[in-house]
Amino acid sequence: MGLVVQKFGGTSVANIEKIRNVANKAIREKNAGHDVIVVLSAMAGETNRLIDLAHSAAELPDEREYDSLISTGEQVTITLLSIVLNSMGYRARSFLGFQVKILTDTAFKKARISMIDTHAIEQELKKGSIVVVAGFQGVDEENNITTLGRGGSDTSAVALAAALRAERCDIYTDVDGVYTTDPNICAKARRLDKISYDEMLEMAMTGAKVLQPRSVEMAKKYDVPVYVKSSFTDEGGTLVTKEDKEMEREILSGITYDRDQAKITVVHIPDKPGIAASLFTPLSERNISVDMIIQNASSKGYTDLTFTVSKKDMKEAQKCVEATAKDIGAQKVEVDDDVAKVSIIGVGMVSHSGVAAKMFKTMADESINILMISTSEIKISCVIQRKYTELAITVLHDAFQLEKKHK
Ligand code: ASP
Ligand code: MG
Repeated sequence: MGLVVQKFGGTSVANIEKIRNVANKAIREKNAGHDVIVVLSAMAGETNRLIDLAHSAAELPDEREYDSLISTGEQVTITLLSIVLNSMGYRARSFLGFQVKILTDTAFKKARISMIDTHAIEQELKKGSIVVVAGFQGVDEENNITTLGRGGSDTSAVALAAALRAERCDIYTDVDGVYTTDPNICAKARRLDKISYDEMLEMAMTGAKVLQPRSVEMAKKYDVPVYVKSSFTDEGGTLVTKEDKEMEREILSGITYDRDQAKITVVHIPDKPGIAASLFTPLSERNISVDMIIQNASSKGYTDLTFTVSKKDMKEAQKCVEATAKDIGAQKVEVDDDVAKVSIIGVGMVSHSGVAAKMFKTMADESINILMISTSEIKISCVIQRKYTELAITVLHDAFQLEKKHK
């Protein structure tokens, strides 16, 4: 029998009782004959607490020290789990990122894994240990501790599964799988039995919180089957895997939303080559990522340009864009953070026509004004007024009949 990687999120390790539950899940796989690697997050709320501490110590904490600090939550959970497993008569060993050697680049707060040395883990597995690895962290060439971005334990787990050629990677969380949309908003939301890597990636990037987008990218690249399942029940689960015929028959697989959006419009810009570059270069230099961009067709030599950023970046983006707007002779800058992005996702879009029209018509029938639109092959996103988020999701879910599986 092969290797299984199990990852448990913060709510699954929030206290000792829950950690015992995790131990039982690991033991079950072990007793079934598998080699087992468990990847853990910090206890729920712990990473936030550490981040707050860092910011109460200094407005702009030193990044190296910051990553060292916020990675400590995982040290607590992996050691506790190992202690519990050992006390239950199972050999277990915890590993921090540097002890495995999960090598990353030096981009603190959002480091990328470049290599995993599998030697130490393999030695322990050979001895029969359950190996427990800290998620979310790695180490760079200079031995600095790095972190992989919020939600990064998912990526740690998939990366380990890829490096050690695991049979599968089970992501245990507080929901029992991936749903067609947020069940808290739409009571008819349906759990998907499976979803393609590409759809899951679009869902994760447009607001579904269940998996870190990078983990999905990595799963796709190395062809790692990922199961999203609940820590608290054995029912359900969603398989994230390669696209198949069945998936194409469904027009859509899901609807996501993102309320963490702010819209910035630069009005009446003299239209000449280089205006977009002069607006967006200073933003990228400040590490502000821009999501949607729309430039209007120019009229009488002038144009408007609208784009969205994450809410936390709005103030800084506004300041930055106002400075550029002056330089390039634009009339003014308008900002609006009372917006949300609603997206529909599905590989079936490629082969079904009229999907966009149906989306727009459905929203028009409810008098929901669309402020911005962007599309990819398998996704259509609309920015709308924030107060219509729930309504848009509910009517779209009905219109595309997502509550039932299409055969
Ligand atoms: N503990 C880290 C976070 O809260 C990593 C994770 O949970 O995946 O972002
Ligand atoms: Mg998570």
